[in-house]
Amino acid sequence: MGKILDYEEMNNILDKLKNFKKEKPIGYTYFGYPINHYVYGHGKYHVIFTAGTHSAELISNVFVIRFMEMLSNKKLEIDEDLYTLHFIPIVNPEGTIIVTNAIRSLIPRNISEEEEETYCLTYYRNSYIEGEYANKYGDNGMKLQQFMFRHASLDDIDNENMRDYLKNLFVKNDLPIGCMINWSSNGRGVDLNSNIEDSDFIKRVSNGEQIRAKLHLNNIKRNKLGPLGCPFFRKGEIEKENEALINFYNQIKNDYNYIGSFIYHSCGDIVYYLGDALKNNPWINFDEKMKNNNYNIALKYASVTGYKLDGMEIYTTMDSKLKSLFPVTLLIELGSIRATPLGQFMDFDIGGDDNFKYVYSKIIKVNSQAIIETLPKMLEIYNQ
Ligand SMILES: [Zn+2]
Repeated sequence: MGKILDYEEMNNILDKLKNFKKEKPIGYTYFGYPINHYVYGHGKYHVIFTAGTHSAELISNVFVIRFMEMLSNKKLEIDEDLYTLHFIPIVNPEGTIIVTNAIRSLIPRNISEEEEETYCLTYYRNSYIEGEYANKYGDNGMKLQQFMFRHASLDDIDNENMRDYLKNLFVKNDLPIGCMINWSSNGRGVDLNSNIEDSDFIKRVSNGEQIRAKLHLNNIKRNKLGPLGCPFFRKGEIEKENEALINFYNQIKNDYNYIGSFIYHSCGDIVYYLGDALKNNPWINFDEKMKNNNYNIALKYASVTGYKLDGMEIYTTMDSKLKSLFPVTLLIELGSIRATPLGQFMDFDIGGDDNFKYVYSKIIKVNSQAIIETLPKMLEIYNQ
């Protein structure tokens, strides 16, 4: 069995977890999928974990689900009497369905890990080549890594409304062939992380500016509904996933002792925290104490993982809104190499650059350990 999990496999694992309680969903997507919520422990101090805002960052879902599984099997110990851990392992179910359907059009479930890795390596290398061509020649034409998935079909999506909507969207917005593999947005083609009330980026899109994604994805236009980057369906409209998340965070913060949260993305091996206010933060008045608290907790996580720390804030994303409204929230970019959704599933040593060595195992190992060691730090700072 390979390491990649599709939407159905994820849910099969989640439904079988021991020592977890499945709560009622925090909300439903536009096309009716539940955003599921699982709880571990019953302690006084509450922590939130989310993954897959950008569905192409599949390793984030897989890491959080494997972490939950280790808690379930008691391979990891977290004090159930002290903490209550809330998990939203699939923030963007529609996107996860689209991207994992694309993966399954080429990479079957029941192959060996070694065979699966050859696909991941090919995908990684094709993306790398396209990144180089974009840099050298300004090439924004066909992309090798998308072309690998040119037979991925929207017909494999069960939900009729979402399928018809997407078929229409592919034609209307002239989306590149094979781009289902890069799907980070929800089923409506809105990038949830860009979907806030207002931002400089939203102003640019509203003004009709053409904005391309970068490097190996530069044949995708961010100013149009599609696989990634588009900030709204209608200007000012907040997507149901984001509405559900904000309500959920508010509920936990108002009703309990909320000590912090972990938001997982990929890639870059970076821990982002709310650092110096570079611009006027639209959501909070930032003070020195908050900055230090955010920094100290992020520093703990970074010291265990060896990840880079970054406090840069530009307040143009949903995650910066969560970081502002619900301190302490860390955003963690998993994995030392790019090319989501497959690059981070490589797990071998072919020599050379350390970044290539055991990418997948390293992600699971160091991040599990970092959570274990960061929770007491969150608690300590909360109780100061
Ligand atoms: Zn992301």
